[in-house]
Amino acid sequence: MSDHEAVRTPADTSLSGWYGILPPPKAPEVLRGRHKADWLIVGAGFAGMAAARRLSQLVPNERIVVVDAQRVGWGAAGRNSGFMIDLPHELGGENYGGSQDHDRKRIRMNRAAIEFSASAADEYGLQGFFVRAGKFHGAATDHGLTVLRDFESHLTSLGEPFERLDGPVLKKITGTDFFVGGTFTPGTAMAQPAGLVRGIAEGLSSRVKIFENSPVTSLQTGKLHTVTTTEGEISAPRLILTVNGHLESFGFFKKRLLHVFTYASMTRALSKSEQAALGGEPHWGLIPADPMGSTIRRIGDRIVVRNTFTYNPDMSTNEKQVRRIGAVHDRSFRARFPMLGQIPMEFRWGGHLCLSLNSAPAFGEVEERVFVAGCCNGLGTVQGTLYGMLAADLAAGSNHPMVADALNEPAPVRLYPEPLMSIGAPLKLWAMQKRAGREF
Ligand SMILES: Cc1cc2nc3c(=O)[nH]c(=O)nc-3n(C[C@H](O)[C@H](O)[C@H](O)COP(=O)(O)OP(=O)(O)OC[C@H]3O[C@@H](n4cnc5c(N)ncnc54)[C@H](O)[C@@H]3O)c2cc1C
Repeated sequence: MSDHEAVRTPADTSLSGWYGILPPPKAPEVLRGRHKADWLIVGAGFAGMAAARRLSQLVPNERIVVVDAQRVGWGAAGRNSGFMIDLPHELGGENYGGSQDHDRKRIRMNRAAIEFSASAADEYGLQGFFVRAGKFHGAATDHGLTVLRDFESHLTSLGEPFERLDGPVLKKITGTDFFVGGTFTPGTAMAQPAGLVRGIAEGLSSRVKIFENSPVTSLQTGKLHTVTTTEGEISAPRLILTVNGHLESFGFFKKRLLHVFTYASMTRALSKSEQAALGGEPHWGLIPADPMGSTIRRIGDRIVVRNTFTYNPDMSTNEKQVRRIGAVHDRSFRARFPMLGQIPMEFRWGGHLCLSLNSAPAFGEVEERVFVAGCCNGLGTVQGTLYGMLAADLAAGSNHPMVADALNEPAPVRLYPEPLMSIGAPLKLWAMQKRAGREF
């Protein structure tokens, strides 16, 4: 039995565009008073929703409860760029690839998670929020092209299909001649992330009880685990923590999780004439040749640009930082879309990524009947779904073969001691972003 006080709880600021363009959600149900459940999940992002849905399949007659500090879709799950990527995607590397064995396993596991999301989208009628569209990689420089050729060779060695695109073809798709070439890979699904995660929560609501705006301030583990929120308390014999980097706030994986934020801006809706001036296709998502560059998405009449990573060990950003980085987005946007002039951004936001130095997730049983799925290294739409789903399998004792694969993965390694982290991490991010040059 042990006590875990939350040293901090999440407080994401700034309305994300993905959340902002959806209709307002129904009023939240806040956890008040004392409750009991058979299964308790803390965190309603991709991992929490996947754990809840998988449990509802494995133990359909048991009481499953999810608690989140914020509204569903308000946290990182509704703030991301929505690329649900099947292929290797090492953000810390130079060309997204890793070793062959590692990458084959990664692809198999990522695809299982994409299928799980696809089945949720089918079951709950969320096809508008989940589209198997594939992703483009765009190179803005000759160096970027070399990186993409490297990536293509890696895909060839893995037997994975791709299409090489030249600048004019990319212009037909994106409307801009900013890119000198690119690579298309077909297996990525594109999500409206806030729409998808909110839709899954809504779809689950007849089988799973979800409390929102209910920050968990402490956990007491034992025969029955008890979770205390600001206004209530709930006990259950089995607990799954899907709180991403906030695992560390409860004292788990201390000094092993790296808290980084990344940022996005979304334009206002473009008029018909602005869309005509832009040209290109209405829906596409493009990842930069350099992992530190700018991700761009067009979703019909709006464009979203994401770039810049900052090291925020206190797990929060603020309006000032979001605004400062917004000016960087504007420069990246105008460089790519000069034909759109000074079109303003309607939404700007930042969100929390949890990384580990060895790109390993936080997964497994950390205390008796306390399971975790988090730290998805910036790929949580897919890997959060994967580890959330597998945490449910592990907790329910099912014999899903990927549970063993996940348990065999390394755990996050220790970070470097202070002051190396607080000096080194921002410097390394700065240098990597500088290296991205025009891809930024
Ligand atoms: C701008 C941006 C772009 C990104 N782009 C992509 C992308 O294209 N593809 C991709 O795969 N990933 C992307 N990511 C990363 C992705 O958003 C995360 O990896 C993903 O959201 C992690 O899912 P999760 O469910 O593990 O955690 P989260 O989505 O962070 O969910 C954790 C939940 O736990 C809750 N919580 C935490 N502490 C407590 C507490 N004490 N009490 C109660 N609840 C608590 C939080 O409120 C939150 O809702 C991006 C992130 C950002 C910010």
